[in-house]
Amino acid sequence: MATAVIPRLYKNFIGGEWVEARGGRALENRNPANAEELVGLFPESSAEDVRRAVEAAQNAYRTWRLVPAPKRGEILYRAAEILVARKEALARDMTREMGKVLAETRGDVQEAIDMTYYMAGEGRRLFGQTTPSELANKFAMSVRVPVGVAGLITPWNFPMAIPAWKMMPALVCGNTVVIKPAEDTPLSTYHLVQILNEAGLPAGVVNVVNGYGPEAGAPLVNHPGVGLVSFTGSTEVGRLVSQVCAPSFKKCALEMGGKNIILVMEDANLDLAVEGAIWGAFGTAGQRCTAASRIGVHKKVYGEFTEKLTERVRLLRVGDGLDPDTEMGPCISREQLERVMKYVEIGRDEGAKLAAGGKRLEGGAHGKGWFHEPTVFTDCAAGMRICQEEIFGPVVSVIPFDNGDEGLEIANGVSYGLSASLYTRNVNQAFRAMRDLETGIVYVNAPTIGAETHLPFGGTKQTGNGHREAAIAALDFYSEWKTLYIDYSDRLQRAQIDTAPFGSVES
Ligand code: NAD
Repeated sequence: MATAVIPRLYKNFIGGEWVEARGGRALENRNPANAEELVGLFPESSAEDVRRAVEAAQNAYRTWRLVPAPKRGEILYRAAEILVARKEALARDMTREMGKVLAETRGDVQEAIDMTYYMAGEGRRLFGQTTPSELANKFAMSVRVPVGVAGLITPWNFPMAIPAWKMMPALVCGNTVVIKPAEDTPLSTYHLVQILNEAGLPAGVVNVVNGYGPEAGAPLVNHPGVGLVSFTGSTEVGRLVSQVCAPSFKKCALEMGGKNIILVMEDANLDLAVEGAIWGAFGTAGQRCTAASRIGVHKKVYGEFTEKLTERVRLLRVGDGLDPDTEMGPCISREQLERVMKYVEIGRDEGAKLAAGGKRLEGGAHGKGWFHEPTVFTDCAAGMRICQEEIFGPVVSVIPFDNGDEGLEIANGVSYGLSASLYTRNVNQAFRAMRDLETGIVYVNAPTIGAETHLPFGGTKQTGNGHREAAIAALDFYSEWKTLYIDYSDRLQRAQIDTAPFGSVES
């Protein structure tokens, strides 16, 4: 007789202990390549669980902020070493919960490793400034100080990289953390936090509250004990987060949607551009914030490029990401698959030409998952909804253009501004595009995807609110500047009175 497999019941992590949600309810984490496989059950938390986590983080902050930054960095360094040792197992678990192929989940874990090492090193830098004072016998400097409790809210498409991108700079700066991971991919955050715990992070410094956005995310954003919020997700929810933070002037970083473009100029290496388009558009099944969902092509090479692209797309192998032959995995959920199918309908209705794909994949190896064919629309007009709205799935729209200026106009003619790429061998054209593309990231002769942890990452317009992840830019968000003046003259210095910007000593 077959024995039933009991799904593993995971817990929240609060004050250094694994605890159930107060309400006792659980949410299901399922494999999108095989929805019958339950990866685990995770707490469905409420405002009460969030309150306890924030309290634990507030208590831990009293001592964590005083731990010397190099010591904080050493704990991160140990965590990075554990991540390296477990990379393969972590990647496999991530593919089970998120669906993207193993090569990509290895890359996701690697991003977490890179960020953890990078921020560990920052523990010995966290540079401020010293600068000459206007006065004799006076010393002036600025130092970074932590903000307090960081409330972190993350999406499902980079289940370990994005939590690490937020947690590591927050921690090295001396903040404590409460994180609410995406309900679709909580396992990777569980692993990451367990590793930080093993590396020696004191109790309460990182806390995890699992659950849905409105029930667990919203109370975290709203909690007066949370000093800053970093959110990555849709523009729609980002707007809500921003509105909740505004009345209390809570520091708030938003990384949101995208509608990224690859521009193929008349002199481009077309084979290179086709390869870039394939991975830019269909890597992670198009579910990357940096995914290329538009391709603008110069009319002189339009026919040749679209032919090569559609030929290549038809050969893409779609399936379970754990299978080494698979090139593209499933959509994350039934809802996301339905969203993709809806946009394919919209594209057809708008008069775009369906050149490849267009259908859900069902039956056989695809029967139990949320698979969709990689889909190409050609002969699109820049104003169509499929060329303006974020689809977040394996659908790309190809738009012809007459000259470089028109290409740039099409590229900039959307409400988002995350990444853009240009394929050309003309150096003048490349430099003009780097200057004029209104995105936070520009690639030349490479697709719109990919990031290095020591460079700033983020977008303009409705993609972001001006902050950047990664690099020194992240430290600027997770710390505040404190300016220090030390007068060692033992007397009131005359120039101090003359130049006092806010009134003389008499006032
Ligand atoms: P989402 O906005 O639905 O959810 C993101 C997170 O917010 C989840 O943890 C969710 O539970 C939480 N949430 C939902 N409602 C909330 C509320 N009212 N208050 C607080 N939290 C709430 O996004 P998603 O579907 O998880 O991710 C896909 C989106 O993320 C896409 O739009 C994509 O472009 C974007 N994204 C952007 C970047 C970037 O760096 N710009 C990176 C990855 C993903």
